[in-house]
Amino acid sequence: SLQVNKLTIIEAYNVLEADGVVCARQGSGYFVNSVSVPSANLKSTFAPAQNVIIPKQGGSCFFDMYTAGVHAQSQPGIINFSLGFPHPPKDIDLIARRALKQAPDSLFQYDLPQGQLTLRRQIAQMLIQQGMEISADNLIITNGSEQGLSLALQHHIQPGDWVIVESPTYFGAITFGRASLNAILEKLKAKIIGIPMTAEGMNLELLEQYLKSHRPKLIYTISTLHNPTGITTTQAHRQELLSLAEKYECPILEDNAYEGLCFETVPPPIKAFDKQDLVTYVNTFSKTLMPGLRVGYMVVTGKHYQEILEQKLLHDFHTSTISQAIVSEYLASGHLRRHLKQMRAELLQSRNLMLQALECYFPEEARWTVPNGGLFLWVQLPENIPTKTIRIEALSQNVLVACGSAFFPDKKGYPAMRLSYCLTPEEIEKGISILGKLLKKYLYK
Ligand code: PMP
Repeated sequence: SLQVNKLTIIEAYNVLEADGVVCARQGSGYFVNSVSVPSANLKSTFAPAQNVIIPKQGGSCFFDMYTAGVHAQSQPGIINFSLGFPHPPKDIDLIARRALKQAPDSLFQYDLPQGQLTLRRQIAQMLIQQGMEISADNLIITNGSEQGLSLALQHHIQPGDWVIVESPTYFGAITFGRASLNAILEKLKAKIIGIPMTAEGMNLELLEQYLKSHRPKLIYTISTLHNPTGITTTQAHRQELLSLAEKYECPILEDNAYEGLCFETVPPPIKAFDKQDLVTYVNTFSKTLMPGLRVGYMVVTGKHYQEILEQKLLHDFHTSTISQAIVSEYLASGHLRRHLKQMRAELLQSRNLMLQALECYFPEEARWTVPNGGLFLWVQLPENIPTKTIRIEALSQNVLVACGSAFFPDKKGYPAMRLSYCLTPEEIEKGISILGKLLKKYLYK
């Protein structure tokens, strides 16, 4: 007789439910849906708004780049390479409805600043599997990982302190207004040292020189699928970085936002090797589920936890209980693994398409990284390329890019662009051919 494993049947029901074919009723079983639920794809989630134009900007570099990217996403016809807009899971609407249906009254009330215990336990479980010796009591659920960065920076940095970042690095950590490093720099007069990225990650020799000479108060690092270069550091690099931090007693802020999108097995986070409570770890569900939920988290061990938690309370009391419940329900559904598998397969395809388009249309003097996952790749351009002018000209042809200068702490660096490949094949082909023509025009004029 034919034997079917019970887990296979459960998974089959999960798939049917995810596709909107059946719905689960607690205590009663599964029921066939009379109306099939439309899947939430990228276009329906970000429905095009009519007659929207990208408003004139005049804020900080990050403000302008971020708002232009968000506006562009809602405009039909714009090819938006500037920000990464990951596809939300197609069953998120179902999960969200289920989370609200099962909601206890407490879901609609004020919550603890650290966030819901169920969600913290679920996240702790995932992190323990990656080698971290932590519990739910070391977690703070934040409003995206941007808030985690902001809280950690504010906690560690005092007036006049030196802070080490990779160069280039995530612009949201170095150039954003009110609550992150730039504002802290402005208000508290902290100073940034950018350590150049090599193919292996931050140049550790140079790091040691600065640790010795400047005694910085924090090292900010993106260990996996570094934004913007896409580089993932090896376990040896991570351990060496931690040893240097220990030797010079300098805390590390580890940002692991893209870890879930890596095509290959990733080494354990630096936090997994941290025995001296030197590492504050931030991560997010923005890339793996959806950014609109604004759910991220930080792992803080030792004496720093209570102080950062008090700051979280002062910022916004707590992260939205409804968003937390949706993430928690999604984790409980067991669908995340399948969603990530599908997302990575799609991203790999898009990345390869972009690599082909770059080969075909970009000048041979341009160099680009081949990231092992994530949403972006990084293109290094020849010295004389005016990237800002090209950005403006590209926009007049409905193509939006992120200029490399925003990612360098000293705003200098070399001419470069960060390109998101989270787009359709047609958009990639057309957009890269437009950019290629512009680059050649300036390079060979
Ligand atoms: N860290 C990195 C490296 C990022 O790229 C981003 C967003 N692009 C963030 C943190 C912040 O993301 P969120 O607040 O949505 O979690």
